[in-house]
Amino acid sequence: MSQPTGTMEEDARALLDSQRRAFLRDGPPDIRRRKAALARLRAAALTHRATVAEAISVDFGHRSRHETDLMEVFGVIQSIDYLSRNLARFMKPERRHVGLFYRVGRAYVEYQPKGVVGVMAPWNYPFSLSLIPLATALAAGNRVMLKPSELTPRTSEAMQHMLAGIFTPDEVSIVLGGPEVGAAFSALPFDHLLFTGSTDVGRKVMTAAGGNLVPLTLELGGKSPVVVARGYAGERTLDSIVFGKLANSGQTCVAPDYALVHEDDLAAFVEGYGRAVARAYPAGPASDDYTSIVSDRHFARLQGLLDDARGRGAQVTAVGARPESAATRPRTLAPALVLGAGDDAAVMREEIFGPILPVRPYRTLDDVIDYVNGRPRPLALYYFGEEDADCARLLRLTASGNVGINNTMIHVAQDDLPFGGIGPSGMGAYHGPEGFRTMSHARGVFVQGRWNLPRLLRPPFGRLVERALA
Ligand code: NAD
Repeated sequence: MSQPTGTMEEDARALLDSQRRAFLRDGPPDIRRRKAALARLRAAALTHRATVAEAISVDFGHRSRHETDLMEVFGVIQSIDYLSRNLARFMKPERRHVGLFYRVGRAYVEYQPKGVVGVMAPWNYPFSLSLIPLATALAAGNRVMLKPSELTPRTSEAMQHMLAGIFTPDEVSIVLGGPEVGAAFSALPFDHLLFTGSTDVGRKVMTAAGGNLVPLTLELGGKSPVVVARGYAGERTLDSIVFGKLANSGQTCVAPDYALVHEDDLAAFVEGYGRAVARAYPAGPASDDYTSIVSDRHFARLQGLLDDARGRGAQVTAVGARPESAATRPRTLAPALVLGAGDDAAVMREEIFGPILPVRPYRTLDDVIDYVNGRPRPLALYYFGEEDADCARLLRLTASGNVGINNTMIHVAQDDLPFGGIGPSGMGAYHGPEGFRTMSHARGVFVQGRWNLPRLLRPPFGRLVERALA
């Protein structure tokens, strides 16, 4: 943050006031300026790519540069390109229907920038979950204050350096700090706030934003199920589940949290999972693309989930041993399958957010539907099988933020699809046209034509009412 003068709250408030004054002074940027801002962001993301990947790896303990490039940088570039390409269409006023009694008149919607948008980001994809909301807010013509997570301090510094090189503090600023700063940040009277993080903190953020009636987008977490149809526990299914579960060591909001597998396929699934892990990570958890757990607290939390499951009689199988390199590479947790965990086990109640996959057998599709509907609505639902009547039924009778069929996580990379949760997994969406609209105010405009009959809408009302309701 530039030129701190008072307490964090006072500085952040001063920054917000300054961004708002600049917004009111300059008015909404035209398409040329918006595209130029996006182009600067794109170029900087590529220039700083190696520095950011290094910072993330240090923050996590280990994460390969390739994983960061694929899972973060590529997504940022794709999103910026999508926004730039579609900006003219998004910004174009939309003509709307005018009722018979109001003709001749014109009605249209114009999408105005809201003003100053707050973005609160988590640590798990610290670069893309900061920059994609930032790019969306800029495309919609806003100014942005960004609050990244305290768990990835080096990445935050790298982003701060990068953004300070291409934006003035009145355009984009970063506010650094932990939960206290987060609490103060979420209580600022933004024109919109986009929060990505846990459901628990999301609740607090919603309360704080509510104090100022700040419109809010909540991108939260939860337990995303993967459903494997009978006879579908083959190589392609397992490769995709392993990709979704073990990318970033499972520290992904849309990772498959647990698997529902037909009881006849349970053995094939377990064996196939081990082989799929070996294909993806030939050196086991010592493979370069296998990421560390972000902090000691999260490492202990995940070991606690496994201990709790064991203590309740579940069978925990490590897939690939804890590597030799664990001594030099901190917090490496081998992939684990958990079989026989009951509903009381923490691993079936809490979002896992790590490389642990509980597997639950089912007998009928109704069992699956009941199980999913008996739990909070998830961020993602995955189905492996034919696009047949069962698949249609599962989709019709359950709700989730998004759906992936015969793939995990790839729906998030579809820039034209909205991305968001439902119920405790989130509220509102970004990506796609929805992202632009989330960050814009849809302002309805009615223009009275010269030749219609406005006199009808003046007293005495009797004749008009008789005609209108005839
Ligand atoms: P978190 O909720 O702990 O932190 C998110 C942000 O909130 C951070 O910037 C943090 O500093 C801030 N914060 C912490 N305590 C706060 C408080 N009391 N008041 C205000 N702000 C506070 O989440 P996390 O651990 O960083 O991220 C993991 C969670 O995020 C998981 O639940 C995951 O599913 C979810 N997530 C969701 C998405 C999505 O797009 N839906 C993406 C990634 C992660």
